[in-house]
Amino acid sequence: MKLSDIGEFGLIEKIANKFESDETVYKGIGDDCAVLENEEDYTLLTTDMLVEGDHFNLDWQTPWQIGWKSVVVNVSDIAAMGGFPEWGLVSIAFSGDEELEFAENMFDGMVEASERYGMKIIGGDTTHGDLLTINVAVVGRVEKENLCMRGDAEIGDLICVSGDLGKSWAGLELFRAGKEGYTDYYLQPECRLETARRIAPHVNAMIDVSDGLSSEVRHICEESGVGAEVEKAKVPISEKTRRAGEKLGIDPMKWALHGGEDFELVFTIPHGRISKIEEEGPIVVGEIVEEGMYLKNDERVELGEGYDHFS
Ligand code: ADP
Ligand code: MG
Repeated sequence: MKLSDIGEFGLIEKIANKFESDETVYKGIGDDCAVLENEEDYTLLTTDMLVEGDHFNLDWQTPWQIGWKSVVVNVSDIAAMGGFPEWGLVSIAFSGDEELEFAENMFDGMVEASERYGMKIIGGDTTHGDLLTINVAVVGRVEKENLCMRGDAEIGDLICVSGDLGKSWAGLELFRAGKEGYTDYYLQPECRLETARRIAPHVNAMIDVSDGLSSEVRHICEESGVGAEVEKAKVPISEKTRRAGEKLGIDPMKWALHGGEDFELVFTIPHGRISKIEEEGPIVVGEIVEEGMYLKNDERVELGEGYDHFS
């Protein structure tokens, strides 16, 4: 059987059984970060890899932007747990044909993103590879009362997102089609660290959007043992993203539900607590129900899959 037959998450499910967990590991595989319990707080560990051609394209993105993104994708996972990043390690495979200036610009992007989110890069590894590949690992921390896990959703919770969706995929599709338009966010995404820190004390489950809303809601449901109903009309898509959709003849709802890399937060919160986070502008898109995963519009249909790196 090929990996493309079982998909990214199918593989993760299979390999998860191979690792023995013990009581020092509060959470191993299955959330945005691995979680280790300390006396006072939790340590968060996460890692993400970007590969030339798959995660970035040297024709569209500057080395600085690639460096920036490689840090943001990791900080986003720390934010999704309610925590803050502290230390980063950067491993890179270069082909060797790159100019020194190219490598320096990439590191500048990483350093600037690290400063933006209050962490420090303290090491890494450099090697050779035919495709430029960047792996960043980040260590962070979260106070005990602020830890937000994918498995903490409760029936009746509202499902919220922190901002508009589909904006990253819009840029990617414009580049693929060789058209002008809204590519800013795709080129330099942000993550919602500050928002996550402020809402963490009030929310139940939380995850960041790396593979599209449907995939993230699915992860919350699977880890929490609940279901979800998302209202299509409430899924936020900006005017700029809609215009990109019109230019390309693509329904931007597809990007919002099944695209990814928006690095917004998806979280669940009891009705009674939403007033506590009003200032953060939460966008309610649905509700946690007992079972099933649905997208509700004129009719109620199955919520589809998100982006899969092997499909
Ligand atoms: P995210 O999109 O938030 O970065 P992923 O979908 O990459 O999360 O990973 C989901 C879970 O699977 C995480 O807990 C991660 O640690 C685990 N995981 C992914 N790839 C591997 C791997 N190669 N070996 C062990 N665990 C993995
Ligand atoms: Mg994540």
